[in-house]
Amino acid sequence: MSQKKYQDMLAQRTENIFQEWEVRGSLTERELYYFLHKLKGTSGTIGLQQLSLFCASQLEILTSSNDQKIPVSSLENLKNRIRSHFDDSAEVKKEEFQLPDRYVNRLDQETFILIIDDDLDFVSYLKELLEQLGAQVIISLNGKRGIEQFYSMRPSVVIVDYKLPDMSGFEVLDQIAETARQKNTTLAISCEQPTKELQIESYVRGAMDFIPKPFDMDVFFPYLFNRQQRQKAISSSMITDSLTGVGNRRYFDEIINNWAKAADQAGTVFSLVMVDLDHFKQVNDLYGHPAGDEVLRKFGEIIKEEKREGDYVFRYGGEEFAFLLNDIHADDSIHVVERVRKKFNVVEFTSGENIFHVTFSAGSATYDGKTDELISAADQALYQAKRNGRNQTVVYDQHRLVVQRKLMVIIVDDDSFIRQILQQTLLELKSPDMEITVKTYSDGPTFLEDDWYTPDDYFIVLLDGVMPKMDGLEVLSRLKSDHAKTNVTVSMMTARKSANDIKAALWLGADDYIIKPFQPSEVLGRIDKLANRLFDKRE
Ligand code: GH3
Ligand code: MG
Ligand code: MG
Repeated sequence: MSQKKYQDMLAQRTENIFQEWEVRGSLTERELYYFLHKLKGTSGTIGLQQLSLFCASQLEILTSSNDQKIPVSSLENLKNRIRSHFDDSAEVKKEEFQLPDRYVNRLDQETFILIIDDDLDFVSYLKELLEQLGAQVIISLNGKRGIEQFYSMRPSVVIVDYKLPDMSGFEVLDQIAETARQKNTTLAISCEQPTKELQIESYVRGAMDFIPKPFDMDVFFPYLFNRQQRQKAISSSMITDSLTGVGNRRYFDEIINNWAKAADQAGTVFSLVMVDLDHFKQVNDLYGHPAGDEVLRKFGEIIKEEKREGDYVFRYGGEEFAFLLNDIHADDSIHVVERVRKKFNVVEFTSGENIFHVTFSAGSATYDGKTDELISAADQALYQAKRNGRNQTVVYDQHRLVVQRKLMVIIVDDDSFIRQILQQTLLELKSPDMEITVKTYSDGPTFLEDDWYTPDDYFIVLLDGVMPKMDGLEVLSRLKSDHAKTNVTVSMMTARKSANDIKAALWLGADDYIIKPFQPSEVLGRIDKLANRLFDKRE
C-alpha cells in the first residue's frame, strides 16, 4: 500500500523533471546520467524493479563525464518508456523482433561495433540484441565523441546516424572514412527518410553501406554476418602469406614492434629465430619450382603444428622464415626449433621418380631493447649456422660470433689507374656487419681462371666493358653461364653510351652499370646500395 504511494510520488516528481527539461530544450549527458542513476536507485527500493533495470541498461551507454548537450526532443522514447513503468495499466510494449536462436553467438568479441546515434531508445535496444549475438558494442550519442571512440577503440563495424545533435553523419564520415578503409572497417550510415541524394552522398563520402531507419532486423542481421565474414577473410589475407599460410612480412613487422613495446614496458622476454632452407636453389634447379613451392608449403605446415600457443611464425622472404617465441630466451628456443627439425628433415618430397629431403639452418637471439639489433643478431647467428655446415641452429653470442659476413669487391679493368683509384676509394667502405676486402684483375681471363669464389661469401664485381684480351660482355656471359650464383652481383663499367650495350649487359645478367668516367664517390654509393641488396633478402 505504502509502496504505491511512493511510486506515485516518484512518478509525479519525474514528470516535473521532464517538464523542466522541456523548458530548457537540452541537457548534458552528465545530467541525464545522474538523473537515471538516481531513478535507478529510488525505483529499485520502492518496488519498481523493471524501471530500475531499465535505468541500469541506459546507464551502460552513458558517461558521467560528458558535457555534450542532448536535445530534449530526442528523449521522447526514453520518457515514454519510463512513464510506462509507472503506469499499471500500460502494457509493457514487447519488441516485435525475436532474435532467432541460430543467431545467438554468431558473432564473436572481435566484432566490435560502434554505434554513433543519439536515439537512446533505439541504440540501447540494438545494443542488447547485438550483445546476444556475441558482439561487443559501444555507443556514442554525438559525433564528436563517436570520432574519438573510433580512433581510440578501433571498432570493426561503425554505424553512423545521419542526424546527430552536434554535426551531420557526413561530417563524421569525412573524419573517419579514410582510416576505416585502411583498417578494413565496415562503415555504414543509417538514416530516417532516406532520399536518393542522401544515399549518393553517403557513398561519395566513404560509407560502405546505407541502412534505412527504422532498421528491418530481418535484413540487418544477415547483412551484418555477411560483412563480418568478408572482413575476416580480408583481414586474414592482409597478414597471411598465401603459399605457406604463415604470417607475411608486413605482419612480422607489426608483431615484432608490438612485442618490443610490451617487453619495454612490462619487462617480458621474447626471442627471434631466423630460419633459411639449405641449398634451396638446388631444389628448384633439380626438381623445378613447383617442387620448391611444395617444400615451402610443407615447412609452413610443420612449423605451425609445432609452435607453441602464443608464438608466431612468418615468411620473412623467399625461403626464409622468422619465428617469434614468447616468454623464452634464445637458449631455450632451440628446443622448439629442434622439434621442427626432427619432423621436417624426414619428410620425403617427391618429384617424378625422385625422392629428396631438405634441411634448414637457424639463428636465434633474445630481444635486448632494439628490434633492428635483434634481427641483425638472429641473422648473424643464422649465417654462422650456414658456415658451420648447415642443418643446425646457432644461438647468437656476441662474444663468440667473430665470423662476420664477408664481402669481396672485385675490380676487373685493364686500366691500372682506374684499378688504383677504385681500390683506394673502396677501402673507405665500412660496415659493422661485414668484413670487406678488395681484389683487382687486369684482364678477363685471369679473373675467370682464378679461384676467388666461395659459396658463403658475397661478391660484387666491377667489370670493365672494353678490355683488350676479352671483352667485358664476354667475361660477363662466361661468369653467368658458369653457374648462376646468387651471391655474386655484377656492375658493368661502360664508357659506351650506347643503349644497346647496356641492354646487352643487363640481358646477360649484369645487375647494374656505371657509366665512365665516374666520380669515385659515386661508385662508393653504388657499392653500398648493391651490398645492402645482397644482404637484404626482403621480397
Ligand atoms: P643456402 O643453404 O646458403 O641458403 O643456399 P640457398 O640455395 O638456399 O640460398 P639462396 O638464398 O642463394 O637461394 C634461395 C633460393 O630460393 C633462390 C630462389 O630462387 C628460391 N626461392 C625464393 N622464393 C621462392 C619461392 O617462392 N618458390 C620457390 N620455388 N623458390 C623460391
Ligand atoms: Mg636464402
Ligand atoms: Mg637458403
